[in-house]
Amino acid sequence: MRKIAIYGKGGIGKSTTTQNTVAGLAEMGKKVMVVGCDPKADSTRLLLGGLAQKTVLDTLRDEGEDVELEDIMKTGYGNTSCTESGGPEPGVGCAGRGIITSINMLEQLGAYDADKNLDYAFYDVLGDVVCGGFAMPIRDGKAQEIYIVVSGEMMAMYAANNICKGIVKYADAGGVRLGGLICNSRNVDNERQMIEELARQLGTQMIHFVPRENQVQRAEINRKTVIDYSPEHSQADEYRMLAKKIDENQMFVVPKPLEIEELEKLLIDFGIAN
Ligand code: ADP
Ligand code: MG
Repeated sequence: MRKIAIYGKGGIGKSTTTQNTVAGLAEMGKKVMVVGCDPKADSTRLLLGGLAQKTVLDTLRDEGEDVELEDIMKTGYGNTSCTESGGPEPGVGCAGRGIITSINMLEQLGAYDADKNLDYAFYDVLGDVVCGGFAMPIRDGKAQEIYIVVSGEMMAMYAANNICKGIVKYADAGGVRLGGLICNSRNVDNERQMIEELARQLGTQMIHFVPRENQVQRAEINRKTVIDYSPEHSQADEYRMLAKKIDENQMFVVPKPLEIEELEKLLIDFGIAN
């Protein structure tokens, strides 16, 4: 089983990209589990057709320790297994704790056991690796493989670089490696070239360039992935391609984070000045 965590700045498109890519893998016949690691708990709604998924933390709060796997895991598109960690009420407690609790719970309840025949577990993780809780999936080998969703916008690239610093920190102990950057386009000038260059400087690859496309939102309004909602659409093929590239990926590295000056130079060389 490959355990993959998807990181990136808030709002960059992690949940959308993860679910659409997972739909692509499911279509290829892979058995996939998705664990939402964001207090927003919207990491599985496109796979579940909008079905309200009770989070692990809410289930624990309501039902105490006596929890069954079926209480926290629902079956979605293409026989995917879907779980949401959830989070504390806003302003109360550490949101990262939900991730730790959920992964431990899933392990205890046998979600990763051999009889589940999982090919992949995906963790869709909120934002920056600042708080230790959000670094949880990349500590202790909970996830071995990271993909960072990024765009040509400054703050997205800054967050990607920070996440790389987090990976470096845990690379020795947990064995975690970066599998690549996923560019989720914001239609910034020279975006493809800039993110390819960012990837090169980080010592990794831009594994796929996902175009910005309104069909993603049309599918979302219908609570579906693009592959489910409009399998013939060109955007569905983009996600199929990304799924295939991840499935065949051989490039796993410990990244070399950039200095802030190098990051700014990238923006000047490719973006602002042009
Ligand atoms: P995150 O999980 O990183 O916070 P989301 O996946 O929720 O971000 O995406 C934020 C919004 O961006 C969503 O409304 C989604 O529909 C939209 N979006 C994501 N990727 C694309 C894309 N390639 N084209 C158009 N809209 C997109
Ligand atoms: Mg999200």
